Order: sequence, then C-alpha cells, then structure tokens
Amino acid sequence: MASKRVSKRKCPRCKTFNPPGSFITGPGGLQAFCNIDCMSKHAYSKRSKGYEKQRKENKKKLAERKESLKTNSDWAREAQTAVNLYVRIRDRGRLCISCDKPDVGKRDASHYRSVGACKQLRFNTFNIWASCHKCNTQLSGNLLEYRIRLVPKLGAARVDWLESQNEIARYSIDYLKRVKSIFNRRAKHLIKLRGY
Ligand SMILES: [Zn+2]
Ligand SMILES: [Zn+2]
Repeated sequence: MASKRVSKRKCPRCKTFNPPGSFITGPGGLQAFCNIDCMSKHAYSKRSKGYEKQRKENKKKLAERKESLKTNSDWAREAQTAVNLYVRIRDRGRLCISCDKPDVGKRDASHYRSVGACKQLRFNTFNIWASCHKCNTQLSGNLLEYRIRLVPKLGAARVDWLESQNEIARYSIDYLKRVKSIFNRRAKHLIKLRGY
C-alpha cells in the first residue's frame, strides 16, 4: 500500500494518477506530469497568474501616482461632483427649483450663488438644488425664479445670508478629499434608504 502511494503520483495539471516512471521534469523540479502538454499548460497558468499579479500591482502603483499628481483644482472638481450627485439624489422626484418642471430628463445640481461668484458656498447644500438642465445651463440658473422658490424652502433670512456671503474661500486638499468622501457616503446612504 505504502509503495503504491509513493510510486503513483498526481499530475499537477489534470490531477490524473500516473504510473511510476512517467515523471517529467517540470518547472517545479521532478513532477508527475502526464506529458509535455500538461506540463506546458501548467507552466503557462503559473506564469499567467504571475503576470496577473504584476499587472495588478502596476495598476495600483499607477493609480497611486495619479492620486499624488492631482492638484487642488482636481480635488475641488471631484468634491463638487460628489456634492452635486448627492443633491440630485436628495431632490429626486422634486420639481425644478427654477421652473417647476417635473423630474424627467436630464437634471442638474444648480447653484443659487454660482461657483464662480461665491467659492465658499460651492459645497453648501442650502445653495444647491436640482433643476432642469435648461434652467441651469441655457438660463444660467434662472435665478429670479430660483429665488422665488428658494425663499419658502429656506426662509428669507437664510436666503439673505446666502446672498451676503462674499469672502474668498480657499480649501486644502485634505478638506476637499473629506468633502468628496462625506458626500459620496451620504449619496450612497440615501440611495440605500430610499431603495433607488
Ligand atoms: Zn496531466
Ligand atoms: Zn427648470
């Protein structure tokens, strides 16, 4: 019994038990491959696993390098994308903030005080509401109509406050990263909560 176990060995490729004497030297030394075909297939699969690992490592390194090369404005853009996504999800089903168009077709996250006009409100969710694409782009926010609908939502005092903000804001990369991750998380949470 014992001698049988020693002499018959499994092919590493196809798991066939091979009789004594049929061993072929493979990449791992003396191994019980059935034939050259099994051996080369085995060697190839081992190598391709290695390639795959290397490819993943390279990809990760490249991603890390890309991250490290991102500028403040790259991070600001990504943070804004996250905040805008959150707002569009928050306002799903609501009418356009500027023209009451129902939630159909392309929708934007429309800033009451634009990013260009007021940097320190660019991530403020009182300042951003979902609108139809036309109001946000062709009508530059359609702001008179926007204001009419914003006052009942926020109260006149808060709208006045938004309108009085005029300092220049500067955000650190760390802050922008935090904004991005917080709002992505909030967006995911909302989707989970509402089931869409
Ligand atoms: Zn085999
Ligand atoms: Zn609209």
